[in-house]
Amino acid sequence: MRISKRSPFDYAIIGAGISGACMAYHLNKLGKSVIVLEKDKIASGGSGAAGAFLSPKLASNSLYTSFINSSFEFSIKFYKENFSKFLKINGILRILKSQDDIDKCKLYEDVLPKNFTYLRADDIEIVKKDVSNFGGYFFKDGAIIDGVGVIKEMLKGIDVVNPLHVESFDYINGYYEIGDIKAKGIVFCAGNAQDFKQLEYLGLKNIYGHRIDVKTATMLPFHLHKSCSVSASHDGLVHIGATHIPNYRYDKSRDYDTEISKMIELAKSYLKFDGFEVKKVNFGARNSSLDFFPVLGQIIDVKKTLEKYPYIKKGSKVPKEKYIYYPNLFVHSGLGARGFVLAPTTSKILAEHICTHSNILKRLDTQRLFIKFAKKTKIGSTHS
Ligand SMILES: Cc1cc2nc3c(=O)[nH]c(=O)nc-3n(C[C@H](O)[C@H](O)[C@H](O)COP(=O)(O)OP(=O)(O)OC[C@H]3O[C@@H](n4cnc5c(N)ncnc54)[C@H](O)[C@@H]3O)c2cc1C
Repeated sequence: MRISKRSPFDYAIIGAGISGACMAYHLNKLGKSVIVLEKDKIASGGSGAAGAFLSPKLASNSLYTSFINSSFEFSIKFYKENFSKFLKINGILRILKSQDDIDKCKLYEDVLPKNFTYLRADDIEIVKKDVSNFGGYFFKDGAIIDGVGVIKEMLKGIDVVNPLHVESFDYINGYYEIGDIKAKGIVFCAGNAQDFKQLEYLGLKNIYGHRIDVKTATMLPFHLHKSCSVSASHDGLVHIGATHIPNYRYDKSRDYDTEISKMIELAKSYLKFDGFEVKKVNFGARNSSLDFFPVLGQIIDVKKTLEKYPYIKKGSKVPKEKYIYYPNLFVHSGLGARGFVLAPTTSKILAEHICTHSNILKRLDTQRLFIKFAKKTKIGSTHS
C-alpha cells in the first residue's frame, strides 16, 4: 500500500491490471490525480496470466478488424516510446491451415498493418513440415510485452492501495467515498470481476486460459500463432498461451490438467522441442462483451433511466443523451483476448472523453449494450 497524496483524488481506479494501469497513466498525463485500488497484488488478474502477445488480426475488412489493427500499431508505438525495456519485437508468424486460408488471406491484405510478408513452407523450417504446408504470414512488428513488468512501471509514481477489495462505495456531496478514500469519480477496470451491480447491464462474460512457461533448448527466433501462441525463446524459456475455456465461472470440478496437456500437445504438434520442462503454469480469465468490442464510457443508471422512460423496454427510442448516468462513474473493460493490444488505445480514448468530453465511437461505448438488457430485465418494471 502506498498513498503519497491525501484524498480527495480526481479519480479512483478499481483494478491494477493493464486496463487500470493504462487508465491511470493517461488520466495522470492529462493532469488528473488518481489512486488505484487493487484487491490483490498488482497484475494478479488476467493481465498477470496473459502471454501478452501483440499481434494483428488476420480477417476480412470490418470495423472490428480495422479497430484491432490500428490499436495494434498504436500499442507497438506506445510501448516502444514509453516502455521499451518490456517489449520484445521478434515478429510473429501466423501459420495458415489450408489453401482456403491462403486465398482468404490474400483478400485481407488491404486491411493488414504494414510490415508483413507471406512466407512459404520452405521459409519456415522451424515449424513441422506437415503443419507448415500452407506457409504463413509474418508480421515484422509482432511482439510480446512483459505484462507484469509494464504494469508495475506504468504505476510508478501513482498512488496504489492494495490489498483493498472494493465492494461498495457511497456518493456524498459530490464525492465517492470508499472507506477513507474520497474521489470525484471512479473508473472500473476490474476485469473479469462481477462485484458491481452497476455493470450488470454490460453483460460481460469470462473466458479462462493458461500461459505455460517452458524451459527448452529449442531456439525459436519469432513468436508464432496457430490455435495457440508460442513465444520466441528468451532466457531459455518459451511461453505457450491461449484463452480456451469458455466457462463463465471458475469451475472447481473441471479437469484443468487435461486442458493444460491439450495445449502442450497442440504446441508440440507445430514445433519439435529439444527438451521440454514445464516451469510454471499461469491461469486467468479475460472478459469480453457480447459483440467483442471493448466497453468504455459513463455508466447508465439503469433503474432511474427505465423509471423515467419505461417505454424503452418496449423498443421505443430515447436519445442516449437523455439516459440517466451515475455522476462521474466510468468503465474501461471487455478487452477480450487482446487486452495488451487494445488498452493503450481505449484508455486514451476514455481519458480524453473524461477530460475533454470528446466522443467515444458508438461501437465502443456503454450505451450500445443497454437496450438489449433493458428489454429483458425486471428492473424498471412496475413490479420490480
Ligand atoms: C491466459 C491468457 C492469455 C492471454 N493472452 C493475451 C495475449 O497474448 N495478448 C493480449 O493482448 N491479451 C491476452 N490476454 C487477454 C488480456 O490478458 C486481458 O484482456 C487483460 O489482461 C484484461 O485486463 P484488465 O485489466 O481488464 O483485467 P485484469 O488483468 O483481470 O485486472 C483486473 C484487476 O482488478 C482487480 N479487481 C477486481 N475486482 C476488484 C475489486 N472489487 N476491488 C479491487 N480490485 C479488484 C483484480 O484483482 C485484477 O488485478 C490473455 C488472457 C489470458 C487469461
